[in-house]
Amino acid sequence: FGEIMDLQKNFEKYAELILKKGLNIKKSECFTVSVNEDTLPLVRVIAKQAYKMGVKDIIFLFNDDDLTLSKYLYANDAAFDEFPKFKVEYAEKYLKAGYHRLALHTANPELLQSVDPKRLDKWESVSAKANKRVQKYTMNNMVKWVVAAAASPAWAKSLFPDLSVEKAVEKLWENIFAATRVNLDDPIAAWSEHDKNLKKYSKFLNKAQFTKLIYKAPGTDLEVCLVENHIWQGGSGTSKAGATFFANIPTEEIFTMPHAYKVNGVVKATKPLIELGNTIENFSFTLKDGKIVDCTAEKGKDVLKTLLSIDEGASRLGEVALVPHDSPISNTNILFKDTLFDENASCHFAFGAAYSETVENGEKLSASEKKKIGMNESMTHVDFMVGGPELSVIGIDKKGKEVQILKNGNWAF
Ligand code: ZN
Ligand code: ZN
Repeated sequence: FGEIMDLQKNFEKYAELILKKGLNIKKSECFTVSVNEDTLPLVRVIAKQAYKMGVKDIIFLFNDDDLTLSKYLYANDAAFDEFPKFKVEYAEKYLKAGYHRLALHTANPELLQSVDPKRLDKWESVSAKANKRVQKYTMNNMVKWVVAAAASPAWAKSLFPDLSVEKAVEKLWENIFAATRVNLDDPIAAWSEHDKNLKKYSKFLNKAQFTKLIYKAPGTDLEVCLVENHIWQGGSGTSKAGATFFANIPTEEIFTMPHAYKVNGVVKATKPLIELGNTIENFSFTLKDGKIVDCTAEKGKDVLKTLLSIDEGASRLGEVALVPHDSPISNTNILFKDTLFDENASCHFAFGAAYSETVENGEKLSASEKKKIGMNESMTHVDFMVGGPELSVIGIDKKGKEVQILKNGNWAF
């Protein structure tokens, strides 16, 4: 580091962005933060700033990739039978007590490659079921929450195998700082400006209330109905208590709720998907009445099928997101192999749960009301990318009027 990039100085700026814009943390508030050996230096900077800002308490939740891998490889089957109830109760207790949540991760795309996918799938489903009670705190914005990332040697080497570890880590940090606008003089001001811009597009789309979107690109010909009274969200979100926060750093998307039962056609993914320790490549879905009835993949088809069969809602869409092809992340021209970055570099859908904030009164709906309006429910939520320079998206309103939304991958209005 040193000459090219002052890492410590950027950590200070990144920490400030995460605390002031991301969590929008206030005096006397508390939060939890995930920590591993590679995020620790950044977490220390975050903690120092947070305490100075008057934060009352921080709970550090330790995790380690090597320990995770050891469990998957060497623990006996019984270790995956149930998720300890008291762990869920602990999480529920701090969320109930109003602890906000900072999920700071390092990606490790190849970590679980050698693990039996059945074991991964089993644990995914067991832990998702057990944690359903705590999932609602973030899905319904009951607390302020942020997902952000830090560089690590394993992640950096996976992206830049030809560089030395040091150079690879440095290059990854540079790209993280570019994607998050931390490399600018005043990242906080830049995020306020960026937020205003995102709100401009969501406002237009909210007013238009398109009933249907038509997606056309090579390998894609899809009709996606949106739920009635859908809300396009983008940029800062609002917690139940009325505080703004950014759930993702970075974020470039405007997203809303597709109708779980009214999507038809074919959609081809434009980027690989890394899930359950596997890379799924060149895949596409056929949807009929909202259900994914067929899928193809050049690689990882079994994993894809596993993901889609976690529950009934896993094979229906829960999110439609628009991201212009021209954005700081996509301009890095890097496949980050991490959803946080890759989803914000490309238009995407998610199969699985819908966000209640993307429809009017979404958080107040009962299970039967959700079904009635077409809001998808699931234990899972997996983004897959469909954006690119050839994507066209047309909106059709109640009167049948057509409006070009994206042309050649970029905003057309
Ligand atoms: Zn999204
Ligand atoms: Zn998503």
